[in-house]
Amino acid sequence: MSRKQYSIRRTYIGRLPQGADLLESITKICKEENIKIGKITAIGAVKKAVIAFYDQVEKKYHNLEINQEMEIVSCIGNVSVLNGQPFVHCHIALADNQGRCFGGHLMIGTEIFACELIIEEYEGEILERVYDEQSGLSLWHPASILME
Ligand code: ZN
Repeated sequence: MSRKQYSIRRTYIGRLPQGADLLESITKICKEENIKIGKITAIGAVKKAVIAFYDQVEKKYHNLEINQEMEIVSCIGNVSVLNGQPFVHCHIALADNQGRCFGGHLMIGTEIFACELIIEEYEGEILERVYDEQSGLSLWHPASILME
């Protein structure tokens, strides 16, 4: 087995505009810069959010809409390739005004109040997503599995 290794090619740091959609904004930047493999981190606040939970038995996402202002405690994710295009996969933890957290798979519909974003683009082999029968998800191709 040969594990693929990556190094940082470019790092983008900046903020995203109030009112924009968080996932759409990150995806737009990745497509404009043609980032095909990388890491995403963001903190800030949102006006509202849509997150999802993947039901492992039903093999489908269930959306949760949260219509209140919250802190982005942590938004982490990656960019790889799905159907030849940069594809962003992020998870997010959000805290309400009592510090209680919600979390899940970031969906379109999450409106930015303020956001500080860092994207690290890597140098190395592109990771392609392919449909995985076992999970029902589009996962990185089998050659990327790090364990035998
Ligand atoms: Zn996810």
